[in-house]
Parts: sequence; C-alpha cells; structure tokens
Amino acid sequence: MGLDLELKKLGKSSVQIPVLGLGTWGIGGFSSRHLGGEDNAIRALRLGLELGMRFIDTAEVYAQGHSEEVVSMAVGRERERVFIATKVSPEHLSYEQVLRSCESSLKRLDTNYVDLYQVHWPNSRIPIRETMRAMEKLVAEGKVREIGVSNFSIQQTREAQEALSKINLASNQVEYSLVERSIEEDLLPYCSKEHITIIAYSPVARGNIPAGGRDEHWRILDEVAQKNGKSRTQVALNWLICKEQVVAIPKAANVEHVKEDAGAAGWRLSEADQNSLSEAFS
Ligand code: NAP
Repeated sequence: MGLDLELKKLGKSSVQIPVLGLGTWGIGGFSSRHLGGEDNAIRALRLGLELGMRFIDTAEVYAQGHSEEVVSMAVGRERERVFIATKVSPEHLSYEQVLRSCESSLKRLDTNYVDLYQVHWPNSRIPIRETMRAMEKLVAEGKVREIGVSNFSIQQTREAQEALSKINLASNQVEYSLVERSIEEDLLPYCSKEHITIIAYSPVARGNIPAGGRDEHWRILDEVAQKNGKSRTQVALNWLICKEQVVAIPKAANVEHVKEDAGAAGWRLSEADQNSLSEAFS
C-alpha cells in the first residue's frame, strides 16, 4: 500500500490515525450491487487506501451489513495497515446485543478486531453504563481497540465518558462542515478540552460543497481555493482538519473524487484564510 497521509492522535490514546478517512454510507447498497457499482466502490476504497486514507468508517446498518463486507473486500490482506471503525446501532445497545453485534461485524469485516467501535446514536431507553460495560468487555477480549460514540450531545458525551472505567472515550462522530457548524457552540470546545477526537461526517455536505452556489460565501470559498491552487472541496476539508481535534471522513465512490479528497491533506490554509471562511459561512 502506497503513501502515508498526515496523521493525528486519536483521543488520549497513543494511536495515530489519518486526518482523512473514507466514509462508506451507501456503499454496497442494493442499487449499487445491481448496477455494478460495488466494483467501483471497492476500486475507490482501494485507491483511497493507496493515497494514504488508511481509515475506513462503516456501520452495521449500512446496506444492512453489506458495506462492512465491501470494506473487507477492499482491505484484503492489508488489514494491519488499515484503521477500521464501525458502529453498533441504537436498537442493539443492551449488554448482550452489543456483544452479538460486534461478533457479526467482525465476521462481515473478516477480521478479529475492530480499531474503533462506535455507538451509532444514543438510546435513552438503555442506560449508557450497560452499553459501555459491554464495550469494555470487548476491549478486554481484544475484539475492540478503542471506543467511540456518534451523534452524542455534550451531556451524553460526558455520561459516556463517566460510564467507562478502564479506557478513555476516544471520539464522537458528528456532522460538521463549512455549512453545518452547530457543534462549534459547545460540543467542539468540550471535546477539544477533553481530548476527544471529533470525526466529522458529511464533511462535504453530501456533495453540496463541491456543487457550490452563487452567493457571496461561495465566491469567497472559490477565491481562497484559487489563491491556494486547490479545489473548493479540498479547501472545505482542509478547513476542518486545521482544527486540532478534528478528522474528516468524506465518502466518494468516484475515483476522481477520492483523488481530490486525498489532496485536501498535507498542507494548511493560513489562519487568515481559515478565519475568512469561518466568517463567510457563519
Ligand atoms: P459527504 O462525504 O459529505 O458527501 C458524499 C457525497 O459527496 C457523495 O455523493 C460523493 O460523490 C460526493 N463527493 C465526495 N467528494 C467529492 C468531490 N471531491 N467532488 C465532488 N463530489 C464529491 O457525505 P456523507 O456520505 O453523508 O458522509 C461521509 C461519511 O460519514 C458517510 O459515508 C458515513 O461513513 C459517515 N456518516 C455517519 C453518520 C452518523 O450518523 N454517524 C451520518 C452520515 C454519514 P461520489 O460518491 O459520487 O464520489
């Protein structure tokens, strides 16, 4: 496997992960399977890995588990070099169900450990202590390396941290992009202070950032892109990873998109450019 991308420390752990990972929502879905899109998806994931995006985010719910199988096909023999993150669904958060879900994910991923196991969404009907007890058992058994959450508010994140007794909460995966900034109010400062990595999902706003628009803020984005010799998408991704605690997981099934996304790392926007984008998109 080829290049190494810029790395960042995951939470308080000693693990380093690429600042850009590969999202997989929609990969392996019914239509993609029948339109030959699965081969494209595998090709796109393999190219991303070669370009150093050695971090794949998936979930048991994506394509009813088939995304995890596609991930295992793309990773092949390179398992040790790829950081695999998957998620347990909110309806599977009881102690026994977490253990069962993890076993099923391990089978589909064709591996004996997951690098990061995330609670996909909170579930107020199941105490987080019960879920985290199962998560810690999985860590003790070597089936999970790090524990994360997703879509957790500041209060829920705090409760998840407190429910863990032997390991630190590594990450919270939430929506974050130039056009979706709500975590800046409280969750981002909290996670930065607590050294919890923010994994930014939908970082190119599900294709809306590459598509852009005609308003003033898009004009400023294009201006910054032109000045830096980068594309609009690369600037938007770089703006995210400029933040100390943030990594991003764009999804791209198209190989040209993967190449472009990988080119968003390895350089830095100036502080002035970061600020003018923050202001333009506020
Ligand atoms: P996204 O990554 O913001 O956007 C994906 C879309 O943008 C795709 O249509 C892709 O097209 C397009 N795209 C990517 N790079 C591009 C480029 N350089 N130029 C033009 N178009 C480009 O949205 P997302 O899939 O919602 O989020 C990313 C990942 O985050 C997901 O795949 C999933 O792993 C995770 N996620 C997690 C949650 C959660 O609840 N935890 C929720 C949503 C997403 P092509 O595919 O055609 O290349």
